[in-house]
Amino acid sequence: MQGKNTTLIDAENRIMAKYLDKEFTDIAETEFKNKGVNIVLGQKVQKFEGTDTVKKVITDKGEYNADLVVLCIGFAPNTKLVQGKLETLPNGAIIIDEYMRTSEEDVFAAGDCCVVKYNPAKDTRYIPLATNAVRMGTLVGKNLVKPTLKYMGTQGTSGIKIYNKCIASTGLTEEVAKNTTNYNVGSVTIDENYRPEFMPTFEEAKVKLVFDKDSRRILGGQIISNIDLTQYMNTLSVVIQNEMFRAKEMAQWVKCLLHRREDLSSNSQDPCKSGHGHTGL
Ligand SMILES: Cc1cc2nc3c(=O)[nH]c(=O)nc-3n(C[C@H](O)[C@H](O)[C@H](O)COP(=O)(O)OP(=O)(O)OC[C@H]3O[C@@H](n4cnc5c(N)ncnc54)[C@H](O)[C@@H]3O)c2cc1C
Repeated sequence: MQGKNTTLIDAENRIMAKYLDKEFTDIAETEFKNKGVNIVLGQKVQKFEGTDTVKKVITDKGEYNADLVVLCIGFAPNTKLVQGKLETLPNGAIIIDEYMRTSEEDVFAAGDCCVVKYNPAKDTRYIPLATNAVRMGTLVGKNLVKPTLKYMGTQGTSGIKIYNKCIASTGLTEEVAKNTTNYNVGSVTIDENYRPEFMPTFEEAKVKLVFDKDSRRILGGQIISNIDLTQYMNTLSVVIQNEMFRAKEMAQWVKCLLHRREDLSSNSQDPCKSGHGHTGL
């Protein structure tokens, strides 16, 4: 940390708990710790102390000296203006239909003030992202005169780089799926080199797929590696949105991606043999 004493405090028991499952946040936390960051988990910040400048951060379980504090404590819709006038979720997010129409005729809404259609869970959730906001704004324009174009929904795909680790996720994590849906949630996690060892260079990658055991529908995925494989989650996002693959075929495809050809049965539909297995995930 370039000579700075840095402490990362999180009220949850692991960092980025809503974006990634524990196998992935464990690696991210180790990455921080290896760089000398003090990780403090399961503590809620209560107040700051100091006269002219901040000197101390007080949590429910301890106190930490500080001369600079950066707050990254989430987001909430700023919808006081429409409170009691439009239907909202309990957190204030305006409820809209797929044409961006609110509960009041001729009132449209878009962006961080609204819920979005969330394809992995087939429900609506509060996922404020610029990517959603831009699309929703465009749709308001398209649908102002008459309902013309529906919102396709989102998978809430996101990526982050923590020192050497390139991390991305799309759709539901296993934990969020279990806590917020009625799906019969299953998962598969694979650790493997991302390309064959006879190549001049190769790196380990960890990939996880989350799926519904009953329908075999893919619900989400996560990836982490020193090499940037995050774009694969964009492809998986399209797969989830369009319900293109069922979990068995997808798990095979992931094995192709990570070169576990020995696990593939010879008579099944083998994407490695199609010549597309290494490119499209
Ligand atoms: C640090 C940070 C990083 C982010 N990174 C990403 C990212 O990597 N990818 C991504 O997709 N998204 C990211 N986001 C989220 C993204 O910025 C928002 O989703 C996006 O800006 C939402 O657009 P919006 O127009 O709905 O709202 P805003 O951009 O918040 O615009 C709303 C505007 O309305 C104004 N306003 C509020 N009330 C009134 C009023 N009564 N009258 C007039 N004006 C009013 C506000 O001042 C504000 O300027 C990030 C956000 C933050 C804070």
